[in-house]
Amino acid sequence: MLIVQKFGGSSVANPERVFNVARRIAETYKAGNQVVVVLSAQGDTTDDLIAKAKEISKNPSKREMDMLLATGEQQSVALMCMALGELGYPCVSLNAHQVGMTTTSIYSNARFKKIKPDRIQRELDLKNIVVVTGFQGVNRFDDITTLGRGGSDTTAVAIAAALHADKCEIYTDVDGVYTADPRVVKSARKLNEITYNEMLELASLGARVLHNRSVELAKKYNVELVVRSSLTKAEGTVVKEVCKVERMLISGVAGDDEIARVSLIGIKDTPGKAFDIFATLAKKGINVDIILQSIGRDKSKDISFTIAETALADAQKVIDDNKERWGIERVDYNENVAKVSVVGAGMASNSGVAAKMFEAMFNSNINIHMISTSEIKISVLIDKKDMHKAMNAIHDIFNLAD
Ligand code: ADP
Ligand code: ASP
Ligand code: MG
Repeated sequence: MLIVQKFGGSSVANPERVFNVARRIAETYKAGNQVVVVLSAQGDTTDDLIAKAKEISKNPSKREMDMLLATGEQQSVALMCMALGELGYPCVSLNAHQVGMTTTSIYSNARFKKIKPDRIQRELDLKNIVVVTGFQGVNRFDDITTLGRGGSDTTAVAIAAALHADKCEIYTDVDGVYTADPRVVKSARKLNEITYNEMLELASLGARVLHNRSVELAKKYNVELVVRSSLTKAEGTVVKEVCKVERMLISGVAGDDEIARVSLIGIKDTPGKAFDIFATLAKKGINVDIILQSIGRDKSKDISFTIAETALADAQKVIDDNKERWGIERVDYNENVAKVSVVGAGMASNSGVAAKMFEAMFNSNINIHMISTSEIKISVLIDKKDMHKAMNAIHDIFNLAD
């Protein structure tokens, strides 16, 4: 079998963990499999590198940031190959350039385009364990890019798809996908399986156990994923197209506190304003999430929307540059907000899910600022300080623990 195994930062945080992972890889290899390993940077390396950059510049060039951050993953793969060497296994480390991992050109948030599997295949044919850097790619200018925080999962799935691997295993510091972040909701329950669609929603709404684009790619290329612990032998969670288990109303709760709310107040109430505002933001690569528009009064209206906290500086600039043209009276920014969501394919055919979620907020005395719904999710925007309380309250009211 050809198996892709991805290990996250905490799984390779120190020499002991590196050897623990090396032994796990060796086990798979010894059993007669071909193994491609994808690694993240060790422990807090990526955060530390970001802090280092901030010591030099408040607003560093995104190109240079990617050049810097990509070094974290490069350290990991080299160290892992040294450990595998110590254990007596043949292996080779490769970076994004060497495996032809092409991405779009947007630094810090590049999207995977394609991969040239030839080099990996050649190394596998030579009976090597192949250890590849996660998170990084190369764009059409031949520059290093990164795939966004948590992007190593996406590297693993991309490689699994390109090589038609039999398995793609994502090893992390929890033993699978839970009904909510087990560090926040103590009663969270591990799911044996979950559909791509539900996992994609959870990941996009803040459950960082999988990078959302990795789930998107897995669905597109039908790569079955297993999320499991690098520290225990527990079975893990299978992510796939269709689940055998009876359709659950709600599969999980997710929270995201890395967002900001922007309100444009007193916009002239004429056709085309929303189009103009959101087209301009989109052109600058700013993704907008929940949108709320007030009804017009006195010939003016307000529009509020949420964006990623990391996009706030860019959004402020776009708004400042266009404020007069849009005829906005006032702008209000709030970073002290969080989005909490429930996800479940079963809710489409069930009324009352939203009401129950709002009841949980009311019982916990949490004020809702904005609401957004789709077929399989409901999100509310609340104060950041209430996020953990809200996640627990929602998890409880839907009895997700049992
Ligand atoms: P890695 O470094 O292995 O990629 P991450 O920190 O990116 O690990 O992701 C694992 C973390 O995701 C867990 O430690 C957990 O706190 C968090 N998490 C958030 N939501 C969930 C969920 N629904 N199920 C499991 N873990 C979750
Ligand atoms: N090292 C990167 C990060 O911390 C990528 C990853 O861990 O997946 O975001
Ligand atoms: Mg991760």
